Amino acid sequence: MISDSLREVAAALQEASRLLLLAHVSPDGDSLGSLLALRQVLLRSGKQVSVYVPGGVPLRYQFLPGADTVLSKPEQLPDEPATIVVLDCGEWERVGLPADRFAGQPIVNIDHHRTSCGLGQANYIDSEAAATGLLLLRLFSHWEVALDVPVATCLYAAIASDTGFFRYSNMTAEVHLAAATLLTAGADQVQIYENLEKKSFSYLKALALVLERLDAFADGKGAYSYLTLADLDSLGLTNSESEGLVNYPRSVAGIQVAAFLVEMEPEVYKVSLRSRAPLDVSTLAALFGGGGHARAAGCTLHGSIDDCLQQLSEAAVRMG
Ligand code: AMP
Ligand code: MN
Ligand code: MN
Repeated sequence: MISDSLREVAAALQEASRLLLLAHVSPDGDSLGSLLALRQVLLRSGKQVSVYVPGGVPLRYQFLPGADTVLSKPEQLPDEPATIVVLDCGEWERVGLPADRFAGQPIVNIDHHRTSCGLGQANYIDSEAAATGLLLLRLFSHWEVALDVPVATCLYAAIASDTGFFRYSNMTAEVHLAAATLLTAGADQVQIYENLEKKSFSYLKALALVLERLDAFADGKGAYSYLTLADLDSLGLTNSESEGLVNYPRSVAGIQVAAFLVEMEPEVYKVSLRSRAPLDVSTLAALFGGGGHARAAGCTLHGSIDDCLQQLSEAAVRMG
């Protein structure tokens, strides 16, 4: 069954001849895999397509087909008006470009965040879906696209990233069927796993520090750890390479909420939140202007690490 919103989004994309594809800052496997899969499919139908990722594609995702074509600086953006497609993101604040830059241009939004309300004229939002990559697979199947290796690789990487390689609680039969379809189309699971899961020395040294600092917060309801700018500097790690470290506080037995904080600018922390039912971290993140899903969400906090932890602790305790 194809929903009306998917039909509308499909029509808006088909009508467009020039498109600019955007996602969220701090790009992850789902946002990058989705951007590059949609790029390939749109290019095949003769459209002009640009993809913009603020700061560029992190090293571990550079194996994705088309990663070398991504624009990384605002001054590289094409001047001509285009249909703007925002993937895996439901708020302009997280796109990394001001909304007024695209005033008067058609906007299409495809996303799966619970906190998304649809920032386009055409929106396909399914907060039950495990990944934006899964929504694109539904779109491609509606279009009867023949999946090739590059598209299958991008979508498999997108879905594997947001499901922790098919392990998280967002897993469904549809996701396993999607994985089977993508493997049949030629996605190389071993190569994708190698690329997404390989670790640098600096990452593993950062992990040692993160584990050393692991502690309880919110009256024992949660576990957290963090990295400061000084840590990143001395380890030779970029903040985008700290992705995944929240999984360590998350794995502590008996906790309901996990937090990992990484300092992006002096006294500005990007907070990754994870939870076990019934606590909904998208609600917790929303208290601080962030958002996400029930089991995985994020926000930005300002202040010293102690200030940030106190804000988080108080809010998590209040949530009951
Ligand atoms: P992360 O901890 O960065 O892996 O993010 C977990 C989930 O929350 C992902 O689906 C993100 O897209 C979402 N998320 C992270 N930070 C924010 C934010 N500031 N606002 C809305 N959603 C967010
Ligand atoms: Mn994402
Ligand atoms: Mn996603």
